[in-house]
Amino acid sequence: MAKICHRRRIAVFSTVLTAAWLVGIADSFTSAPPLVREFRFSGRLQATKAADDDTEEERNEKMEKALKAMTNFSNKYISTTQTKYCQDKSIAAVVIKGLAEHKVSLGTPLCPCRFYEDKEAEAKDGYWNCPCTPMRERHECHCMLFLTDDNQFAGPETNISIEEVKDLSGGFTK
Ligand code: SF4
Repeated sequence: MAKICHRRRIAVFSTVLTAAWLVGIADSFTSAPPLVREFRFSGRLQATKAADDDTEEERNEKMEKALKAMTNFSNKYISTTQTKYCQDKSIAAVVIKGLAEHKVSLGTPLCPCRFYEDKEAEAKDGYWNCPCTPMRERHECHCMLFLTDDNQFAGPETNISIEEVKDLSGGFTK
């Protein structure tokens, strides 16, 4: 009974996280910056413009690269911090995919589990760039990507492959 309850909670969280991620993706469409908008963050502005101008093939190439980079980062960081992935690895996969999306569109892996009024400003601020300040200071990952041993959802896994990320997150195309 307790096990069923536990699984149900993970499933609910997984649904909420996926919904949050989808909202983030939708937001990235609706809040695409007009070219005349003022940016002091020229490097990331260039990344955003470049991502907007990309063909589908170019975007897929960038996503493939970013997905590999964020998967490698996650596996390395989980080892450094001695944390674990969630029992349901689709949680990690969806978060890694969201980080990769932001790396392509913003030039930095802004946390994908939050809503932002202005993503470019948040990326510039850096507080929520992964690993975010709460994670670096207190090992708090509200996305449940990096779980401490005392977290009831922590599983045994400390590694996720690029194939798992793609399969469990539904691929990498928007
Ligand atoms: Fe988001 Fe912070 Fe977790 Fe990275 S460490 S996934 S930025 S909550």
